[in-house]
Amino acid sequence: MSPRTLRELAELPVSRVRRVGEKRAEALASLGIETVLDLVTHYPRRYVDRTRQAALSELSVGDEAVVLASVVDVRTRRARGGRALVEIDVDDGSGRLRVTFFNQSWRAKQLPAGTEALFFGKLDLYRGRRQMTNPVVDLVGNRTGRLVPIYPTSEKSGIAGWEFGDWVGEALRRAGAFEDPVPGPVRRRLDLLDRTAAFAAIHAPQTFEERDRGRRRLAFDELLRLQLQVVRRRLDLERHARGVRHVVDPPPERALVQPFLDQLPFAPTSAQRRAMARINADLAGTLPMHRLLQGDVGSGKTVVALAALLTAVQGGHQGALMAPTEVLAEQHYLGVRQLLGALEVADPARLGGNRPLGIALLTNRTSGAERTRVRHELAEGGVDVVVGTHALLTEDVRFASLGVVVIDEQHRFGVEQRAALGAKGRAGGGSDPDLLVMTATPIPRTAAMVVFGDLDVTEIDELPEGRTPITTTWLRQPKDEDEAWARVRHEVGEGRRAYVVCPLVEGSERVQAASATAEHERLSDGVLHGLRLGLLHGQLKAAEREQVMADFRGGRLDVLVATTVIEVGVDVPEATVMVVEDADRFGIAQLHQLRGRVGRSSLPSWCYLLSGSDSPDAVRRLHALEATTDGFELAEVDLELRGEGTILGTRQKGRSDLKLASLRRVDRPLVEQARAVAEELLDGDPTLAGLPELADEVELLVGEEEAAFLAKS
Ligand code: ADP
Ligand code: MG
Repeated sequence: MSPRTLRELAELPVSRVRRVGEKRAEALASLGIETVLDLVTHYPRRYVDRTRQAALSELSVGDEAVVLASVVDVRTRRARGGRALVEIDVDDGSGRLRVTFFNQSWRAKQLPAGTEALFFGKLDLYRGRRQMTNPVVDLVGNRTGRLVPIYPTSEKSGIAGWEFGDWVGEALRRAGAFEDPVPGPVRRRLDLLDRTAAFAAIHAPQTFEERDRGRRRLAFDELLRLQLQVVRRRLDLERHARGVRHVVDPPPERALVQPFLDQLPFAPTSAQRRAMARINADLAGTLPMHRLLQGDVGSGKTVVALAALLTAVQGGHQGALMAPTEVLAEQHYLGVRQLLGALEVADPARLGGNRPLGIALLTNRTSGAERTRVRHELAEGGVDVVVGTHALLTEDVRFASLGVVVIDEQHRFGVEQRAALGAKGRAGGGSDPDLLVMTATPIPRTAAMVVFGDLDVTEIDELPEGRTPITTTWLRQPKDEDEAWARVRHEVGEGRRAYVVCPLVEGSERVQAASATAEHERLSDGVLHGLRLGLLHGQLKAAEREQVMADFRGGRLDVLVATTVIEVGVDVPEATVMVVEDADRFGIAQLHQLRGRVGRSSLPSWCYLLSGSDSPDAVRRLHALEATTDGFELAEVDLELRGEGTILGTRQKGRSDLKLASLRRVDRPLVEQARAVAEELLDGDPTLAGLPELADEVELLVGEEEAAFLAKS
């Protein structure tokens, strides 16, 4: 029999496995398992070491434990209120325990005397007797190894763990040897188990060490398939690309980047300089740039992004800055006007003359007349830098010559949008614009390699000098809040300013705005009475918002009561206090982003997180915020706490081929190795013609749809 390929297993319905009848097949389908491949890639969630189970005699009341024990007696009774009650006595050789099930009368059948099973639960005390109530049960069946694999099933499917073990064992036995699509030299170099051994090791390991080796191999395969896909798409893009060679070294009279940097009240940090140099190298080259710019809040990404846009303009092209929402686009627009408003560009219509740099805003809220004007100017080249939302991608927007696109907050831009942007550049015989993507908060580099696999990554790993760290305090009791409000008053007294971030409420922007308005009133009449309070939320018209921001910036307002509208882009160096209400409702990244609105100068700053929550998750989040202001560090915590879902989005994670591989620290080296191997294999063989099995697997398991989500995240 020739070795099995995964494709062959994918073509066998799971009902072909012995003892999987129609009923079982249906139950399996409810777990998403339809083929033999699905079955053998349904991996154990954990393993229980028979020899290291908690001994019943050593457990104390209140302990959460797993015990491996045999049933010695079963009784079914009616409890008060008529509920069915199954009482089971179990023994593990060291002691006895009563296990009680309410409303699960079928347990009597499932657990007849003599059955060996694992019981997961909390030891409690009932009328002086130690017992477990409604524990999770897994039958050991004929799993005889020292390590008992525990499969993720659901009570609803009615499938027992041991059945799984049986079926998988059977499927693997019948499959025999697996084809190994990864070339031998690569496997040897990386010390990877062969695939046949890896499947055996993960489903029926003798030792944890063996399990780890099996897992490592299979996780590597998942990551390799993904990296092959992204690297291949990248190569594809490059093959068909028509890039713009930007002018990074213009004659002085055309230069924009240098004058822009010269007029800044500060010198770029060396990290900013490095990032700009990297980007310049891309911009000067023939291939369109695809780069991710990562940097912590306050690291100065804006300057770097604007320099890239201006590079396009100084070569006679246009730059576009895209934000995911209208509010953000408007805020960026204000910021861009402030930073670039004084620049002039050479005007070919006026010999030796200049005109002001053309800056425009285009969103769905842009009014009809203005819209027409902006569209006209974009097509004619009168607008040099445009800030906007997806509205920039609509059919009727044409660019004279789109050269650089900066996307802020990648998350909501997908491949289609990127393609649309490319098309904008190409329209009328133009070229593919260069693309710079900025993340709002950094994610670990290897995670970026998976999520933004086809982007090169540059990091700004240093904050401007002279920043005084922000002191963050979590106030857990309403009475402690005085500390925050006293700080607000004190700082305002010193001529500084403060933000109050309103609780996040469910519902539309309108609901959120209403709640912010109420909060503004409550504070004005209450703890902040006498101070000048402003209100900022997403329902205000752009002009109103602009006015409020200008007043706050100019010191005509002391306190800004705001929704998360201020999360990104708001930049007022004199703001030194932030109070976040109901802080537990926000995620780590969002809190970090919010906090980044203070500490933007050399003045000491404070952030107060108000929350009475004691949910373990909230506690860890808020403690993490108190403990560090390093965004990369917080990204790690977020990943540990929330898992891949944070980055991939839960929906995608569920659908993806990443069943074992993790973006957490453990698999970092594996991600890098998979990337390197993918590049090596595709180098000189961009279609994997020489490795057809591997190519086929990528197609089978990653597929176009999957690849699309990767770029989208
Ligand atoms: P982010 O990376 O969070 O987008 P910004 O670009 O908004 O950060 O910059 C944060 C603040 O730091 C802004 O006030 C900006 O003007 C200022 N800034 C940027 N670069 C420097 C620098 N090299 N030295 C001092 N301040 C800087
Ligand atoms: Mg920013």
